[in-house]
This record gives sequence, C-alpha cells and structure tokens, in this order.
Amino acid sequence: NLKPEYKSAADFFRNHDNLLLLVHEKPDGDALGSVLGAAHLLQSLGKTVTLVNDDPIPDKFRFLPMADRFLLPEEVEGTFANVIAFDCGDRKRLGRSQGLIAADANLLNVDHHVTNDHFGTENIVDLEAAATCQIVFKIAQELRIELDLDTATCLYTGLVTDTGGFRYSNTTEEVLLIAAHLLTAGVSPYQIVDRVMETLTWPQVQLIRTVLDTLDRDESGMISWVTITRDMLERAGGCDEDVEGLVNYPRNVEGVEVGISFRESVPGKVKVSFRSKYVVDVGAIALEFGGGGHARAAGCTVDGDVDTVKDRVLARVREVVTAVDTKPEATQ
Ligand code: 5GP
Ligand code: MN
Ligand code: MN
Repeated sequence: NLKPEYKSAADFFRNHDNLLLLVHEKPDGDALGSVLGAAHLLQSLGKTVTLVNDDPIPDKFRFLPMADRFLLPEEVEGTFANVIAFDCGDRKRLGRSQGLIAADANLLNVDHHVTNDHFGTENIVDLEAAATCQIVFKIAQELRIELDLDTATCLYTGLVTDTGGFRYSNTTEEVLLIAAHLLTAGVSPYQIVDRVMETLTWPQVQLIRTVLDTLDRDESGMISWVTITRDMLERAGGCDEDVEGLVNYPRNVEGVEVGISFRESVPGKVKVSFRSKYVVDVGAIALEFGGGGHARAAGCTVDGDVDTVKDRVLARVREVVTAVDTKPEATQ
C-alpha cells in the first residue's frame, strides 16, 4: 500500500552512485536522522556517499553513527551529478551547499513539508509522514533492506524529535508501528530521547530563565510569544541550538492557539518560529513571510529590528486567528 513515489525513490537509491547527500541548514534531528539513515542504507547497497552541510552538527547529535562524516561545502571540490536532499522544502534551505549540485544533476527531493515546492528532478514529498525519517524507513522497506542498529538509531532520532516525543498531532498508528520496528532492531529509546530531547545544557537553562521574562500574550489570550535578543543569548553563553524548543512555552499556555518566538539572529534579521494547537495553518503564514513548514510548526526569517518584525507578524497572526474558529471542538 505504498505510494508509487516510494518505488521510484527506491530505484533512485539502487541506480545511482557517488551520491551527494544534503539536508536543510541548521539541521535538526529529523534532517540528520533521515540523511544518516539513508547514508547507511546506501552504503549497504555498496554506494559511495558524501555528506555536506553548511553548519556544524549540534553536539547532541554527534553520537549518531556517521555524523563525523559531514563536510562543509568549502571542503568539497567539484559538483555532483547525483544528489539527494532530505527534510528540505525548497532549494534555498540548502544554503551554500547548493553550489555542489551540477546544473544537470539527478536530484531526488525526499521531504514531508506542506510548503515543499518540488525542486527535485524526482520528488517524494509525503505530507502524511510525520518525519522524513518515516519516508526513509519506507524506502528501506521497498528496498527490502533489514535495518541494522545504526540505521535504526538514526531513523528513531528523527521520528521522536519531529513528533515532540510522540506527543504532537502528527503522531499516528503508523509512526508508533515504525517506532516499534526500530526497537526490534535494537534501538534504546530512553538513551536517544535523553540525549536529544531531555538534556538541557547549562546555558540553555540560563536562557530559559531570561526568555520566560519576555513571555507575553494578546488580549484574546489566543496568541502568545517570547522574544530572544542577541544580548540574551550572549549573556547565557548559549548558541543557536539553545533557542530551539523555546517556542513551546507560549504554545503550551492554556487557551493559546498560536505560539511564536521572535529571535534576533543577526542584526536586522529576526527568525520567527510558529506553533499552533488545532486550526491555524502557521505554514501558510510563514510562507507569506518568505519561510515555510507544516500546518502546526513553521518558521521564517524576516528583515527588520525585533519590534518592527513583531508588530508586522503579530498583526497578521491576529487577522488569521480572528478569521477562524479556534475552538478545539472545531477540529478532528
Ligand atoms: P523551527 O521553528 O523549529 O525552526 O521550524 C519549524 C518548522 O518550520 C520546521 O519543519 C522547519 O523545517 C520549518 N522552517 C523553519 N524555518 C523555516 C524557513 O525559514 N523556511 C522554510 N521553508 N521552512 C522553515
Ligand atoms: Mn527539519
Ligand atoms: Mn522533518
């Protein structure tokens, strides 16, 4: 009962060699889990793979088997004729790594974002998948490859992170069945989730202290947000990845439909993260601001100082929230 794209994707894995494997910049658990899971599958098929990303791999993901194989685009010469991109909705999200894709390359786009623009020469964009790791798991099934522990560890990591520890609305029967398969392959669920979700670095906790002071909400109580300035991050001694997850505080406030974090990334640029509970399609809002994502989790980077961006984005979110019926009963 697999969609036909799964067969084509499996053929792509079988029929190409010397592959360049890419994921979106600032890679998360699903990006890294899916690309590394696929790298193991391709190696078991006897293929040579090159792994490239614009950004260093976050410390908490360095335990993933083969994570040490990542190169920066500047460390790689020439271009590749065979490329697979994972967990990436558009070409722009590949950043500088795009320069390694030959003009006439065979490019397979493996993703689950609703805003995916089908930038590949072949595309397997499965909007029903909770994680790109779920798609890679199904490609492995199509290839009839028995999963070893390394591959299973990578795939479990993306599955558990993109579902928020199997708590978000994308958690389905299939997700849990796949998780069970991965445990059969020997995965230690506690070890993985402890490393990638539970453990907070000291700077991260300092940042939470400061950022919770900025927690605010609108008059309706349906929109809530936090603000993270460069100064806050610096004083906490934190780095980019320490900001991840802060948007869940406003999202989780009772009565809130849309939770937002505003984060000054470089002077004059603000990274906005959106989360919604039941009805608001934040992927569509992020797309209007030049970003993208899913209906319940999305993001974008907007030019301007924090206050200006906040005013613009909150005004738009207010319009959308006012226009929809946000009572939980209105949803499935
Ligand atoms: P986060 O807010 O955690 O950075 O991202 C939430 C979701 O939105 C993720 O699925 C991520 O891939 C997507 N996303 C975040 N920022 C951007 C962006 O600037 N552009 C696009 N296309 N997607 C984004
Ligand atoms: Mn991702
Ligand atoms: Mn994902």
